[in-house]
Amino acid sequence: MRRIYMDANATTPLLPEVLEAVRPFWVEQFGNASSIHQQGQAVRAAVDRAREQVAGMLGCRVAEVVFTSGGTESDNMALFGVLEPGDHLVATSIEHHAVLHAAEALAERGVEVTLLPCGPNGVVEVAALKAALQPNTRLVSVMLANNETGVIQPVRELAAVAHAAGALFHTDAVQAAGKLKIDVAELGCDLLSISGHKMYAPQGTGALYLRRNVRLRPMFFGGLHERGRRAGTENVAGIVGLGKAADSARGWMGGTASGSGLPSLAAMAALRNRLEQGILAAVEEAGVNGAGAARVSNTSNMYFDLVEAEALVIALDLKGLAVSGGSACQSGATEPSHVLTAMGLSEARARASVRFSLSRMTTQDEVDAVLTIVPRAVARLRELSPKKLVLATGS
Ligand code: PLP
Repeated sequence: MRRIYMDANATTPLLPEVLEAVRPFWVEQFGNASSIHQQGQAVRAAVDRAREQVAGMLGCRVAEVVFTSGGTESDNMALFGVLEPGDHLVATSIEHHAVLHAAEALAERGVEVTLLPCGPNGVVEVAALKAALQPNTRLVSVMLANNETGVIQPVRELAAVAHAAGALFHTDAVQAAGKLKIDVAELGCDLLSISGHKMYAPQGTGALYLRRNVRLRPMFFGGLHERGRRAGTENVAGIVGLGKAADSARGWMGGTASGSGLPSLAAMAALRNRLEQGILAAVEEAGVNGAGAARVSNTSNMYFDLVEAEALVIALDLKGLAVSGGSACQSGATEPSHVLTAMGLSEARARASVRFSLSRMTTQDEVDAVLTIVPRAVARLRELSPKKLVLATGS
Protein backbone atom coordinates (compact mmCIF):
# COMPACT_ATOMS: atom_id res chain seq x y z
CA MET A 1 0.00 0.00 0.00
CA ARG A 2 1.18 3.49 -0.83
CA ARG A 3 1.82 5.43 2.36
CA ILE A 4 1.12 9.14 2.73
CA TYR A 5 2.89 11.05 5.48
CA MET A 6 1.05 14.08 6.85
CA ASP A 7 2.66 14.31 10.28
CA ALA A 8 5.55 16.67 9.55
CA ASN A 9 4.98 18.58 12.79
CA ALA A 10 5.90 15.38 14.66
CA THR A 11 9.04 14.87 12.62
CA THR A 12 10.24 15.38 9.08
CA PRO A 13 12.22 13.05 6.85
CA LEU A 14 15.83 13.99 6.08
CA LEU A 15 16.28 15.90 2.88
CA PRO A 16 18.56 14.01 0.46
CA GLU A 17 21.05 16.88 0.48
CA VAL A 18 21.11 16.82 4.28
CA LEU A 19 21.86 13.10 4.31
CA GLU A 20 24.62 13.66 1.78
CA ALA A 21 26.14 16.43 3.90
CA VAL A 22 25.95 14.35 7.09
CA ARG A 23 27.21 11.00 5.82
CA PRO A 24 30.99 11.76 5.76
CA PHE A 25 30.85 12.82 9.40
CA TRP A 26 29.59 9.38 10.41
CA VAL A 27 32.32 7.64 8.45
CA GLU A 28 35.64 9.17 7.37
CA GLN A 29 35.45 12.51 9.16
CA PHE A 30 35.08 11.28 12.70
CA GLY A 31 37.26 13.74 14.62
CA ASN A 32 36.48 15.50 17.87
CA ALA A 33 35.95 19.21 17.18
CA SER A 34 38.07 20.06 20.25
CA SER A 35 41.16 18.15 19.02
CA ILE A 36 44.15 20.07 17.76
CA HIS A 37 45.14 17.56 15.05
CA GLN A 38 43.91 17.67 11.49
CA GLN A 39 40.92 15.39 11.99
CA GLY A 40 39.79 17.64 14.82
CA GLN A 41 40.32 20.82 12.85
CA ALA A 42 38.41 19.47 9.86
CA VAL A 43 35.30 18.82 11.90
CA ARG A 44 35.73 22.11 13.79
CA ALA A 45 35.55 23.86 10.42
CA ALA A 46 32.38 21.93 9.60
CA VAL A 47 30.78 22.97 12.90
CA ASP A 48 31.77 26.59 12.24
CA ARG A 49 30.24 26.42 8.79
CA ALA A 50 27.01 24.99 10.20
CA ARG A 51 26.90 27.78 12.76
CA GLU A 52 27.13 30.30 9.93
CA GLN A 53 24.30 28.54 8.12
CA VAL A 54 22.01 28.55 11.16
CA ALA A 55 22.91 32.18 11.90
CA GLY A 56 22.05 32.94 8.26
CA MET A 57 18.60 31.44 8.66
CA LEU A 58 17.93 33.37 11.89
CA GLY A 59 19.57 36.64 10.90
CA CYS A 60 21.91 36.64 13.91
CA ARG A 61 25.65 36.60 14.61
CA VAL A 62 27.42 33.24 14.56
CA ALA A 63 28.47 33.63 18.19
CA GLU A 64 24.81 33.88 19.15
CA VAL A 65 24.04 30.29 18.07
CA VAL A 66 24.35 27.54 20.70
CA PHE A 67 23.94 23.99 19.40
CA THR A 68 21.77 21.72 21.54
CA SER A 69 20.14 18.30 21.32
CA GLY A 70 16.82 19.72 20.12
CA GLY A 71 13.84 21.90 20.89
CA THR A 72 13.27 20.49 24.36
CA GLU A 73 16.81 21.26 25.45
CA SER A 74 16.76 24.72 23.87
CA ASP A 75 13.51 25.60 25.66
CA ASN A 76 14.77 24.26 28.99
CA MET A 77 18.07 26.06 28.57
CA ALA A 78 16.28 29.35 27.94
CA LEU A 79 14.01 29.08 30.97
CA PHE A 80 16.37 27.46 33.49
CA GLY A 81 19.28 29.55 32.24
CA VAL A 82 17.59 32.87 32.88
CA LEU A 83 15.20 32.42 35.80
CA GLU A 84 16.04 32.35 39.49
CA PRO A 85 13.85 31.90 42.57
CA GLY A 86 11.82 35.06 43.11
CA ASP A 87 11.69 35.87 39.40
CA HIS A 88 8.42 35.93 37.51
CA LEU A 89 7.93 34.00 34.25
CA VAL A 90 5.08 34.74 31.86
CA ALA A 91 4.35 31.97 29.36
CA THR A 92 1.12 30.83 27.72
CA SER A 93 -1.28 27.97 28.22
CA ILE A 94 -0.69 26.80 24.63
CA GLU A 95 3.08 26.28 24.83
CA HIS A 96 4.64 22.92 24.09
CA HIS A 97 5.27 20.75 27.15
CA ALA A 98 8.99 21.52 26.78
CA VAL A 99 8.10 24.99 28.08
CA LEU A 100 5.07 24.14 30.23
CA HIS A 101 6.73 21.35 32.18
CA ALA A 102 9.93 23.37 32.57
CA ALA A 103 7.77 26.19 33.97
CA GLU A 104 6.17 23.75 36.42
CA ALA A 105 9.59 22.57 37.58
CA LEU A 106 10.71 26.17 38.00
CA ALA A 107 7.57 26.97 40.00
CA GLU A 108 8.58 24.24 42.44
CA ARG A 109 11.92 26.06 42.81
CA GLY A 110 10.34 29.38 43.72
CA VAL A 111 9.81 31.01 40.33
CA GLU A 112 6.42 32.71 40.01
CA VAL A 113 4.66 31.58 36.85
CA THR A 114 1.74 33.14 34.97
CA LEU A 115 0.24 31.39 31.96
CA LEU A 116 -1.59 33.66 29.56
CA PRO A 117 -4.82 32.44 27.96
CA CYS A 118 -5.50 32.57 24.23
CA GLY A 119 -8.59 33.60 22.31
CA PRO A 120 -10.91 31.16 20.51
CA ASN A 121 -8.75 31.57 17.40
CA GLY A 122 -5.68 30.38 19.31
CA VAL A 123 -3.97 33.77 19.45
CA VAL A 124 -2.49 35.20 22.65
CA GLU A 125 -3.49 38.83 23.14
CA VAL A 126 -0.94 41.56 23.73
CA ALA A 127 -3.29 43.13 26.29
CA ALA A 128 -3.18 39.91 28.33
CA LEU A 129 0.60 40.15 28.52
CA LYS A 130 0.45 43.82 29.54
CA ALA A 131 -1.92 42.92 32.36
CA ALA A 132 0.26 40.04 33.58
CA LEU A 133 3.58 41.90 33.83
CA GLN A 134 5.00 42.52 37.32
CA PRO A 135 8.07 44.36 38.55
CA ASN A 136 9.85 40.99 38.97
CA THR A 137 8.94 39.66 35.50
CA ARG A 138 12.28 38.44 34.22
CA LEU A 139 11.25 36.40 31.18
CA VAL A 140 8.32 36.17 28.79
CA SER A 141 8.12 33.02 26.66
CA VAL A 142 5.62 32.78 23.83
CA MET A 143 5.89 30.35 20.93
CA LEU A 144 6.10 31.65 17.38
CA ALA A 145 3.85 29.00 15.80
CA ASN A 146 1.78 26.46 17.66
CA ASN A 147 2.61 22.83 16.98
CA GLU A 148 -1.00 21.61 17.05
CA THR A 149 -2.85 24.35 15.17
CA GLY A 150 -0.07 26.17 13.34
CA VAL A 151 -1.44 29.46 14.68
CA ILE A 152 1.18 32.23 14.57
CA GLN A 153 1.55 34.43 17.65
CA PRO A 154 2.16 38.22 17.56
CA VAL A 155 5.70 37.73 18.82
CA ARG A 156 7.05 41.08 17.65
CA GLU A 157 4.40 43.02 19.59
CA LEU A 158 4.70 40.76 22.63
CA ALA A 159 8.48 41.11 22.68
CA ALA A 160 8.20 44.90 22.55
CA VAL A 161 5.83 44.88 25.53
CA ALA A 162 8.13 42.55 27.48
CA HIS A 163 11.15 44.75 26.79
CA ALA A 164 9.30 47.91 27.80
CA ALA A 165 8.78 46.25 31.18
CA GLY A 166 12.46 45.28 31.44
CA ALA A 167 11.91 41.56 30.80
CA LEU A 168 13.70 39.26 28.37
CA PHE A 169 11.76 37.56 25.60
CA HIS A 170 12.08 33.93 24.48
CA THR A 171 10.21 32.34 21.62
CA ASP A 172 9.90 28.65 20.84
CA ALA A 173 10.25 28.77 17.05
CA VAL A 174 10.46 24.99 16.63
CA GLN A 175 7.36 24.87 14.43
CA ALA A 176 8.13 28.11 12.63
CA ALA A 177 11.66 27.41 11.42
CA GLY A 178 11.60 26.45 7.77
CA LYS A 179 7.95 27.53 7.45
CA LEU A 180 8.26 31.25 8.21
CA LYS A 181 11.08 33.65 7.49
CA ILE A 182 12.71 34.33 10.83
CA ASP A 183 14.75 37.40 11.64
CA VAL A 184 15.59 37.66 15.31
CA ALA A 185 16.20 41.41 15.09
CA GLU A 186 12.84 41.99 13.46
CA LEU A 187 11.09 39.76 15.98
CA GLY A 188 12.97 41.47 18.78
CA CYS A 189 13.57 38.31 20.78
CA ASP A 190 16.47 37.64 23.12
CA LEU A 191 16.28 33.85 22.97
CA LEU A 192 14.82 31.58 20.30
CA SER A 193 14.61 27.78 20.09
CA ILE A 194 14.74 25.60 16.98
CA SER A 195 14.78 21.84 16.45
CA GLY A 196 16.46 20.00 13.58
CA HIS A 197 13.96 17.21 13.08
CA LYS A 198 11.08 19.59 12.37
CA MET A 199 13.05 21.08 9.47
CA TYR A 200 14.43 18.03 7.62
CA ALA A 201 17.61 17.63 9.71
CA PRO A 202 18.40 14.67 11.99
CA GLN A 203 16.53 14.04 15.24
CA GLY A 204 18.49 15.01 18.35
CA THR A 205 19.74 18.30 16.91
CA GLY A 206 18.71 21.87 17.62
CA ALA A 207 19.90 25.30 18.57
CA LEU A 208 19.24 28.18 20.88
CA TYR A 209 19.72 31.71 19.65
CA LEU A 210 21.08 33.70 22.56
CA ARG A 211 21.37 37.43 22.01
CA ARG A 212 24.78 38.89 22.71
CA ASN A 213 25.07 40.18 26.28
CA VAL A 214 22.22 37.99 27.58
CA ARG A 215 23.69 36.02 30.44
CA LEU A 216 22.68 32.39 30.67
CA ARG A 217 23.45 29.92 33.45
CA PRO A 218 24.48 26.67 31.71
CA MET A 219 22.50 23.48 32.30
CA PHE A 220 25.50 21.17 31.78
CA PHE A 221 28.92 21.49 33.34
CA GLY A 222 32.05 20.07 31.76
CA GLY A 223 34.26 21.34 28.96
CA LEU A 224 34.15 24.78 27.43
CA HIS A 225 32.18 23.72 24.37
CA GLU A 226 29.82 26.25 22.80
CA ARG A 227 31.73 29.05 24.57
CA GLY A 228 30.97 27.52 27.93
CA ARG A 229 27.23 27.69 27.36
CA ARG A 230 26.66 23.98 26.66
CA ALA A 231 29.29 21.50 27.76
CA GLY A 232 29.64 18.20 25.91
CA THR A 233 31.35 16.96 22.75
CA GLU A 234 29.50 18.35 19.77
CA ASN A 235 27.20 16.10 17.73
CA VAL A 236 29.18 17.01 14.63
CA ALA A 237 27.18 15.02 12.08
CA GLY A 238 23.90 16.31 13.50
CA ILE A 239 25.15 19.88 13.57
CA VAL A 240 26.31 19.63 9.96
CA GLY A 241 22.85 18.33 9.06
CA LEU A 242 21.14 21.18 10.90
CA GLY A 243 23.32 23.70 9.09
CA LYS A 244 22.56 22.17 5.70
CA ALA A 245 18.83 22.09 6.51
CA ALA A 246 18.96 25.76 7.55
CA ASP A 247 20.54 26.64 4.21
CA SER A 248 18.03 24.55 2.37
CA ALA A 249 15.11 26.16 4.24
CA ARG A 250 16.27 29.62 3.20
CA GLY A 251 16.60 28.54 -0.42
CA TRP A 252 13.22 26.80 -0.40
CA MET A 253 11.38 29.72 1.19
CA GLY A 254 12.97 32.14 -1.23
CA GLY A 255 12.21 29.99 -4.28
CA THR A 256 9.22 28.57 -6.09
CA ALA A 257 7.72 25.13 -5.66
CA SER A 258 8.49 22.94 -8.65
CA GLY A 259 5.62 22.70 -11.10
CA SER A 260 3.32 25.26 -9.50
CA GLY A 261 5.29 28.42 -10.26
CA LEU A 262 4.11 29.72 -6.89
CA PRO A 263 6.47 30.80 -4.13
CA SER A 264 7.14 27.68 -2.04
CA LEU A 265 5.26 28.81 1.02
CA ALA A 266 2.24 29.86 -1.04
CA ALA A 267 2.30 26.53 -2.89
CA MET A 268 2.33 24.67 0.40
CA ALA A 269 -0.53 26.80 1.73
CA ALA A 270 -2.46 26.11 -1.47
CA LEU A 271 -2.11 22.36 -0.91
CA ARG A 272 -3.14 22.73 2.73
CA ASN A 273 -6.16 24.85 1.73
CA ARG A 274 -7.13 22.32 -0.93
CA LEU A 275 -7.02 19.64 1.76
CA GLU A 276 -9.16 21.64 4.17
CA GLN A 277 -11.70 22.80 1.62
CA GLY A 278 -12.00 19.33 0.12
CA ILE A 279 -12.60 17.73 3.49
CA LEU A 280 -15.07 20.41 4.59
CA ALA A 281 -17.00 19.99 1.33
CA ALA A 282 -17.26 16.23 1.84
CA VAL A 283 -17.71 15.92 5.60
CA GLU A 284 -20.48 17.46 7.70
CA GLU A 285 -20.03 18.59 11.28
CA ALA A 286 -16.33 19.25 10.71
CA GLY A 287 -14.27 22.40 10.98
CA VAL A 288 -10.78 23.85 11.21
CA ASN A 289 -9.40 24.79 14.62
CA GLY A 290 -7.71 28.17 14.51
CA ALA A 291 -9.09 28.93 11.04
CA GLY A 292 -9.61 32.58 11.89
CA ALA A 293 -5.94 33.23 12.64
CA ALA A 294 -2.74 33.47 10.60
CA ARG A 295 -1.22 29.99 10.49
CA VAL A 296 1.96 28.40 9.18
CA SER A 297 1.26 27.07 5.73
CA ASN A 298 1.63 23.34 6.39
CA THR A 299 -0.67 22.74 9.36
CA SER A 300 -4.36 21.97 9.57
CA ASN A 301 -6.08 20.93 12.78
CA MET A 302 -9.60 19.69 12.06
CA TYR A 303 -12.44 18.44 14.23
CA PHE A 304 -14.90 15.77 13.17
CA ASP A 305 -17.73 15.79 15.66
CA LEU A 306 -18.87 12.41 16.99
CA VAL A 307 -15.57 10.81 16.03
CA GLU A 308 -12.81 9.84 18.47
CA ALA A 309 -9.54 11.22 17.10
CA GLU A 310 -7.61 8.17 18.26
CA ALA A 311 -9.94 5.85 16.38
CA LEU A 312 -9.68 8.05 13.30
CA VAL A 313 -5.87 8.16 13.44
CA ILE A 314 -5.81 4.36 13.57
CA ALA A 315 -8.39 4.00 10.80
CA LEU A 316 -6.42 6.40 8.58
CA ASP A 317 -3.17 4.62 9.37
CA LEU A 318 -4.72 1.36 8.19
CA LYS A 319 -5.53 3.13 4.94
CA GLY A 320 -1.94 4.29 4.59
CA LEU A 321 -2.27 7.85 5.92
CA ALA A 322 -0.12 9.04 8.85
CA VAL A 323 -1.61 11.94 10.85
CA SER A 324 -1.78 12.70 14.53
CA GLY A 325 -4.41 13.37 17.17
CA GLY A 326 -3.32 16.03 19.63
CA SER A 327 0.43 16.41 19.73
CA ALA A 328 2.60 13.37 19.05
CA CYS A 329 4.59 13.83 22.25
CA GLN A 330 1.33 13.26 24.14
CA SER A 331 0.20 10.14 22.36
CA GLY A 332 -0.96 7.55 24.82
CA ALA A 333 -2.16 10.31 27.15
CA THR A 334 -5.88 10.29 27.78
CA GLU A 335 -6.22 14.02 28.42
CA PRO A 336 -7.64 16.11 25.57
CA SER A 337 -5.22 18.57 23.98
CA HIS A 338 -4.33 21.45 26.33
CA VAL A 339 -4.04 23.72 23.30
CA LEU A 340 -7.52 23.03 21.97
CA THR A 341 -9.15 23.24 25.39
CA ALA A 342 -7.33 26.56 25.97
CA MET A 343 -9.00 27.77 22.77
CA GLY A 344 -12.34 26.98 24.36
CA LEU A 345 -13.17 23.78 22.49
CA SER A 346 -15.35 21.39 24.44
CA GLU A 347 -13.58 18.28 25.67
CA ALA A 348 -15.57 16.22 23.16
CA ARG A 349 -14.55 18.41 20.23
CA ALA A 350 -10.93 18.49 21.36
CA ARG A 351 -10.98 14.69 21.45
CA ALA A 352 -12.48 14.69 17.96
CA SER A 353 -9.62 16.74 16.47
CA VAL A 354 -6.88 15.51 14.20
CA ARG A 355 -3.78 17.29 12.93
CA PHE A 356 -2.67 17.09 9.32
CA SER A 357 0.81 18.52 8.81
CA LEU A 358 2.23 18.60 5.32
CA SER A 359 5.89 18.37 4.47
CA ARG A 360 7.90 19.85 1.63
CA MET A 361 7.55 16.44 -0.05
CA THR A 362 3.71 16.43 0.03
CA THR A 363 2.20 16.34 -3.47
CA GLN A 364 -1.17 17.30 -4.91
CA ASP A 365 -1.78 13.63 -5.74
CA GLU A 366 -1.34 12.78 -2.10
CA VAL A 367 -3.75 15.52 -1.04
CA ASP A 368 -6.29 14.24 -3.54
CA ALA A 369 -5.92 10.69 -2.23
CA VAL A 370 -6.48 11.99 1.30
CA LEU A 371 -9.68 13.68 0.13
CA THR A 372 -11.04 10.22 -0.61
CA ILE A 373 -9.61 8.43 2.42
CA VAL A 374 -10.70 10.86 5.15
CA PRO A 375 -14.41 11.30 4.34
CA ARG A 376 -14.82 7.53 4.04
CA ALA A 377 -13.07 6.86 7.33
CA VAL A 378 -15.09 9.53 9.14
CA ALA A 379 -18.37 8.20 7.72
CA ARG A 380 -17.47 4.67 8.75
CA LEU A 381 -16.62 5.69 12.32
CA ARG A 382 -19.78 7.75 12.60
CA GLU A 383 -21.84 4.76 11.52
CA LEU A 384 -20.28 2.86 14.39
CA SER A 385 -20.57 5.70 16.89
CA PRO A 386 -23.01 5.01 19.74
CA LYS A 387 -23.47 8.79 20.09
CA LYS A 388 -24.66 8.96 16.50
CA LEU A 389 -27.23 6.27 17.22
CA VAL A 390 -28.53 8.27 20.16
CA LEU A 391 -28.84 11.37 17.97
CA ALA A 392 -30.49 9.42 15.17
CA THR A 393 -33.16 7.93 17.43
CA GLY A 394 -33.65 11.25 19.19
CA SER A 395 -33.41 9.56 22.60
N1 PLP B 1 8.51 22.98 20.87
C1 PLP B 1 7.57 22.71 19.96
C2 PLP B 1 6.62 23.79 19.54
C3 PLP B 1 7.48 21.43 19.41
O1 PLP B 1 6.54 21.18 18.50
C4 PLP B 1 8.39 20.44 19.82
C5 PLP B 1 8.27 19.06 19.32
O2 PLP B 1 7.21 18.63 18.91
C6 PLP B 1 9.37 20.78 20.76
C7 PLP B 1 9.39 22.06 21.26
C8 PLP B 1 10.38 19.78 21.22
O3 PLP B 1 11.38 19.62 20.24
P1 PLP B 1 12.31 18.32 20.21
O4 PLP B 1 11.45 17.19 19.73
O5 PLP B 1 13.41 18.65 19.27
O6 PLP B 1 12.81 18.10 21.59
